[in-house]
Amino acid sequence: MAYVICEPCVGVCDRACVEECPVDCIQPRDGYPEGKEGKQLYIDPDTCIDCGACEPVCPVTAIFPEADVPEEWQKYIEINAQHFQK
Ligand code: SF4
Ligand code: SF4
Repeated sequence: MAYVICEPCVGVCDRACVEECPVDCIQPRDGYPEGKEGKQLYIDPDTCIDCGACEPVCPVTAIFPEADVPEEWQKYIEINAQHFQK
């Protein structure tokens, strides 16, 4: 299990969640200084410890536990994971 960042983050990327994460698994930590359009942050599912600290600070309610990701945003489970695949 892990938390997942979904569509509402796209274009917002304010990084409020980054500060809360005790294991630094939300990336990119620096956001997108070159421009946020079409961009989002991602949670590394292999590192996330499911603490939930990030969820309440998101101003656009983009973060959900994997089991609670809304139907229309299910693809974001894979989108988050893929960001960390090398
Ligand atoms: S649930 Fe905890 S460990 Fe996982 S991304 Fe959020 S703050 Fe980090
Ligand atoms: S707090 Fe929400 S909107 Fe801000 S970067 Fe994190 S997931 Fe994206």
